[in-house]
Amino acid sequence: MTFDPATEIQNFLVFGEFGDVNPSICDSSTYTFRSVERMEEVFEHEIEGCFLYSRHWNPTNKYLSAALARMEGGEAAQVMASGMAAISTTLLQLCSSGDEIVAERTIYGGSYALLANLLPRFGIKTRFVDMNDLKAVRAALSERTRVIYCESVSNPLLDVADIPALAGLARECGVKLVVDNTFSPLILSPLRLGADVVVHSMTKFINGTSDCVAGCVVSSHDFITKLSDINNGPSMLLGPVLDSIRAASILKNLHTLHVRMVRHSANALYLAGKFRDRGLDVHYPGLPAHPQHELICRLMNRGYGFGGIVAVDVGDEPAANRLMARMQEEKVGYLAVSLGYFKTLFSPPGHSTSSEIPAEERQRMGMGDGLIRFSVGLDADIQRTWATIEKLLEEEGVSSREEKRVLASV
Ligand SMILES: *Cc1c(COP(=O)(O)O)cnc(C)c1O
Repeated sequence: MTFDPATEIQNFLVFGEFGDVNPSICDSSTYTFRSVERMEEVFEHEIEGCFLYSRHWNPTNKYLSAALARMEGGEAAQVMASGMAAISTTLLQLCSSGDEIVAERTIYGGSYALLANLLPRFGIKTRFVDMNDLKAVRAALSERTRVIYCESVSNPLLDVADIPALAGLARECGVKLVVDNTFSPLILSPLRLGADVVVHSMTKFINGTSDCVAGCVVSSHDFITKLSDINNGPSMLLGPVLDSIRAASILKNLHTLHVRMVRHSANALYLAGKFRDRGLDVHYPGLPAHPQHELICRLMNRGYGFGGIVAVDVGDEPAANRLMARMQEEKVGYLAVSLGYFKTLFSPPGHSTSSEIPAEERQRMGMGDGLIRFSVGLDADIQRTWATIEKLLEEEGVSSREEKRVLASV
């Protein structure tokens, strides 16, 4: 039987304390013991069903973690207070002073800043490479490399990582492959493609309602046990614990993720095709012209489409800025960062979520100042949405690549 992440989530049944279908939220930071002897025992080795203190584990967080492990086809998971907490604790678990990371150069701005600015203070150095150039990845690996870090579908340019090839390289060189799967939950299953650790910002599609910040790490039992170890685990000792009330609400939203992803993807594919037909530069892995279209078709789980994010270049910064202001006025969506919300969100990556990346570096990556990133919403009538966007493109005089060439030549 083929692996289907939504079926895995569906088969995750919880029988709560009172037979409640949504398990009671554990509203406690601490837990009682019948005796000091028992307390000591639980502090010494983890005992299934016993809890010490909610920074370590909380029953509600365990439920959500177990569901996420199922979704990713992993042995175990741990939820965290943010996506950045998931990424930073994972990297601190895997790397010590003197170690190196090889990372994709087009990654989320916060991840870039962590690798480029903060981790060097602790003696952890990162080499940034183009992950689609396997030779470059290989060349960047050294004796000191511990981790290859990439995003399954990268932010904001939507490059798709060849996870099986990177996993092969990682195994060969004895390093761990860590994949941020925030852009493509359900669509890609990195652990099943050979990755060692998957991280998510659950703030985005997994939760889907833009009402909280949360993250998770999915990996082996061994890795999650080390991550949360009382004596030296980064999640335990840095303390980015997810509140149990949030964990409960995210668990409910997780059960509608497959329905939402299908609609996000269908709407995004529709808009991406329309932008392309107008002759604009568009990045979307569902379009046959995307450089990794065939790769994603080979790697993806069927039935969830190609994801809800589209990046379009409308030429220059003033055009992008005017267009976004008008789109908000005309109710296409919100001018806001983040993604995976039920309404469309749009933002200029160069001036927001990727602003941590130096300007010349952004140019080299092909992240122009006219780039707009859309997180396409669950619009009931996407044709109508396109009609509005098309009218605004006309009114704002956004020209196609072809027209620009003609204009430039006269
Ligand atoms: C938002 C995001 C993060 C950071 O997640 P937070 O929940 O904001 O901490 C990491 N990676 C990607 C790809 C993201 O989009």
